[in-house]
Amino acid sequence: MVKITIDYDKCEGADCAECTDVCPMEILVLEGDKIVIKNKEDCSLCEVCMDVCPNEAVNVEE
Ligand code: SF4
Ligand code: SF4
Repeated sequence: MVKITIDYDKCEGADCAECTDVCPMEILVLEGDKIVIKNKEDCSLCEVCMDVCPNEAVNVEE
């Protein structure tokens, strides 16, 4: 089971949104000014979101 967490104390939300642009499975989605996690069971564990996040705010693990 994939576990995806976003540390909202570190996340810049709509001011950044880098992870929403790169996620190939459209799991990280901008809603209002906040990143939300959708359909996390579809996550491919590619870790691209972690790579692009400037603040280490998103974490994906099995
Ligand atoms: S690990 Fe890949 S598929 Fe999973 S949320 Fe991050 S970018 Fe999307
Ligand atoms: S890349 Fe990181 S800081 Fe930017 S919106 Fe995603 S989780 Fe937040």
